Amino acid sequence: MKTIDEINKKITTGTAVVYTAAELKKSVAAGEEITVADVDVVTTGTFGVMSGTLAILHIPVAPPGSFRSAEKVWLNGVPAIPGPCPNEGLGSVDLAVYGTSRADNSYGGGHLFRDIVAGNEVKIEVESAGMRYSRTTTIDEMDHARLVTTRSAFRNYLAVINTGPDPVQTIFSVKGLTGPYREASVSGCGDINPLQNDPDLNAIGIGTRILLNGGVGYIMGTGTRSSATNPNVAAFAEMKSMVPEMMGGFITSLGPECTTSVAIPIPVLDDSILRNLLITNDQISLPVADVRDRLPFAATSYADVWDDTDMVIAFSSDSCIRCEACKSALLCPTGAIDPVSGIDATRCVNCGTCIRECPGGAFTGNLGALSVDNRKIPLTLRQSDRSRAMRLCEHLKTRILDRKFTLCGKLENLR
Ligand code: SF4
Ligand code: SF4
Repeated sequence: MKTIDEINKKITTGTAVVYTAAELKKSVAAGEEITVADVDVVTTGTFGVMSGTLAILHIPVAPPGSFRSAEKVWLNGVPAIPGPCPNEGLGSVDLAVYGTSRADNSYGGGHLFRDIVAGNEVKIEVESAGMRYSRTTTIDEMDHARLVTTRSAFRNYLAVINTGPDPVQTIFSVKGLTGPYREASVSGCGDINPLQNDPDLNAIGIGTRILLNGGVGYIMGTGTRSSATNPNVAAFAEMKSMVPEMMGGFITSLGPECTTSVAIPIPVLDDSILRNLLITNDQISLPVADVRDRLPFAATSYADVWDDTDMVIAFSSDSCIRCEACKSALLCPTGAIDPVSGIDATRCVNCGTCIRECPGGAFTGNLGALSVDNRKIPLTLRQSDRSRAMRLCEHLKTRILDRKFTLCGKLENLR
């Protein structure tokens, strides 16, 4: 048995032993015997489309006395919700903006959050008593900029397919999910997912210190739709500490969605916590649902998604046949493709969309296939980026080793 205090002492003296979840599993698979005495912290992470994300901001708009209170607010055209504080006569506005709100079909709350965190100029428009007030601002002028998740980091996600003959426009597809059984879309980072590595919630709880979009945050409880068999967490963090690359927007066939990332350090306090950390992709059930009712009707495992597949999508300009309009660039859900320079790695989330769209075969990557009902259904879209999640695990590990991140044990259980 170890305690959080003992581990924190090791962190502050630079003697803590930290593994990423992937490193731990690889070492054990290679035959290394690892006991509780050998490891102090294991870092876990996930990155993907997470609709349940919102920002709470306070923004100065006009000199005091300019307007009584904001009735409507937009940020870069994305509608926000003013209040609840009216800030009467102060010329500033308190607001909430959802990650799924949108200015149009190509820009939404997720894009806005990344722009704010990147320090880009943002246009705020306020309507009050029939008048419009607008200005540009940046995060430096916001004395309060906090991101909150209403649900994130589900222990387990699912894959969806279309069992019907007609394409279905859905947030689980970029151009409509075709059927019957022609393709699959998947979410979840498999065996590095935080709650998958602590399924009994022995280590993770209310008050656990985490990284949310790369910034230091905390778990405040379970999120909406959390259940005993498939829990998730609600969390918050200050946007000023976040990393743009670890968040953003993602365009689906139903418009903009929001990508969010969560990294959680798991303290190795006892044998049961260590045992749970050894879970591998083939041991994690992946429910398969019909996109039309979201009810799982089969199951496979995350081995189909992440074992012997390519985490990163590659681009070869030699194979590009210079189409009049680059179909891959047009459909890339994160705007990561420039037909001349290729893939912008800071934006690419390795979803795989470009592979199928490119007639020249310039994009390559094995996304795998789901084994369902004696069929092999090719995966054509990944809405979670395991490669980025692994970078997040590395980032958190480095911060701990650099003594810049200590552990906060749970104050209360999540259930
Ligand atoms: S779709 Fe493929 S081949 Fe066509 S321009 Fe784009 S990268 Fe080149
Ligand atoms: S894998 Fe291709 S389509 Fe997907 S984000 Fe990266 S460049 Fe865009």
